[in-house]
Amino acid sequence: MVLIMCFIRSKEVDHCFSHSVKAHQIDTFGHEVDCNNFNRNIAAQLPGALGVKDMAKIKTGNGNSSLILCRTPKEVIEKGIPIITKGEGCYVFDDEGRPYLDLVAGVTRPVHVGYGRKDLAAAIMQQIVDLAYFTPMNFTNSRALELAEKLSHLTPEKINSFLFVCDGSEAVESAMKLAKQHHWDKGEKQRFKVISRRGAYHGVTSMALRALGTVLPMRHYMEPLTPGSIFVESPYCYRCPLHLNYPDCEVACARDVRRIIEFEGPDQISALIGEPIQQGFGALAPPPEYWPIIRDICSDYGVLLIIDEVICGFGRTGRWFGIEHFQVKPDIMTMAKGISSGYVPLGAVGCTDEVIDPVDTLEHLHTYANHPVACAAGLKNIDIIEKESLIERAAEIGDYFLETLKTLEEHPIVGEVRGRGLWLGIDFTTDKRTKEMFPMTRLSSLVQRAQHKGVLIKLMGQALELAPPLVITKDEIDKGVKILHECVAEEAKDMGLE
Ligand code: PLP
Repeated sequence: MVLIMCFIRSKEVDHCFSHSVKAHQIDTFGHEVDCNNFNRNIAAQLPGALGVKDMAKIKTGNGNSSLILCRTPKEVIEKGIPIITKGEGCYVFDDEGRPYLDLVAGVTRPVHVGYGRKDLAAAIMQQIVDLAYFTPMNFTNSRALELAEKLSHLTPEKINSFLFVCDGSEAVESAMKLAKQHHWDKGEKQRFKVISRRGAYHGVTSMALRALGTVLPMRHYMEPLTPGSIFVESPYCYRCPLHLNYPDCEVACARDVRRIIEFEGPDQISALIGEPIQQGFGALAPPPEYWPIIRDICSDYGVLLIIDEVICGFGRTGRWFGIEHFQVKPDIMTMAKGISSGYVPLGAVGCTDEVIDPVDTLEHLHTYANHPVACAAGLKNIDIIEKESLIERAAEIGDYFLETLKTLEEHPIVGEVRGRGLWLGIDFTTDKRTKEMFPMTRLSSLVQRAQHKGVLIKLMGQALELAPPLVITKDEIDKGVKILHECVAEEAKDMGLE
């Protein structure tokens, strides 16, 4: 499974990389930002002093092979990137022993139970010894059955059938295919369109890319997208795309979905997909009415509501699932990341009887679907979350984190600090009154500054994002926030905006 992302290539290396592991990029852009510009600018702004090369020297290796990295711009690769070798609690360490306080749980945010869990490792090891693999077709295994049963108790009422896959993109892919086959088997073969939101991210496979609501090259390279990909606005209240103000807007972005469905042809629409709290724009929780309005509209037109819990699920927002904040019942749910805390690749699709019952044979198969080792990891991970009350902890300590982080709003360049549970965003602006957009190069510079000071954070839209392991302590939060204050003050000073 690791080989999906990393390919070792045996070829002569370019002379310019002879002192580091040569890495080829699959995609040089971040979906939040034109990283090409950003990195050129960062390199120009922060020569040496904050360059990655100063922090971690890349091992030479034998010089005849290369590792292909994902979405890592060439300029960053050329400077040398940290090689992370160990993790413990909320810290990771590079190959020179330098510690980083990881405020984004592995940067893609899966590591809910923290690094270095021997109990989780033991459960995985035991399952490998008992049964490392068996096919998901015509046979099954006990761990997959147990995890399906466990999830049926944790997910919203009526979600009680599950398919296990390898990651979030596969979960989204499988969910959209399930939705389509559901309609097909019910005799509504013409339902193929999928609605998603501008600013959304749902992964990189072809069905997931069709729902990628950003203007990023990672989508453009793959055009034409699957036909019938429709976008509606996100509930981004801080900078409303409809130029309205909540609550006077009466949540127009949600109500607008009805108009779009009518325009596109209600009988052609298969599903609407959205994250309960959205990563695009940075940990963006919609107003409380948003999801109930969308739920009603979907029900009115027989459109399946796919709630993407890939980030929100398993405690990230202080509830088992993000949709619980809105008391809405999805038809299909997608999950990944925190389901196994990243210890082994695992994703899942859950659905109601109404969705799966019309389907006679699901025409979908991955070799590693319902994988026994991945499911064993999921079961133990959930057991740890329950035994250590990590959901309650994420809610409680998340409130503390938000309160502490809100102090950043005293800086002239911080527009809004927001969040739910242990998922927080800091939205930047060059003018608080007009909410002027903030230069991407400056946001990237902030990420680099923090990394240089030993704190990992993430760039997301106009915001910086924080999503630490759910085991983070108040001391670690205090330390992280102190360093963020320093970084923001330094950046504001550099911009002449103190
Ligand atoms: N859905 C959401 C909401 C995500 O945030 C992501 C990844 O960040 C995905 C799907 C894709 O998951 P993966 O990267 O595991 O394929």
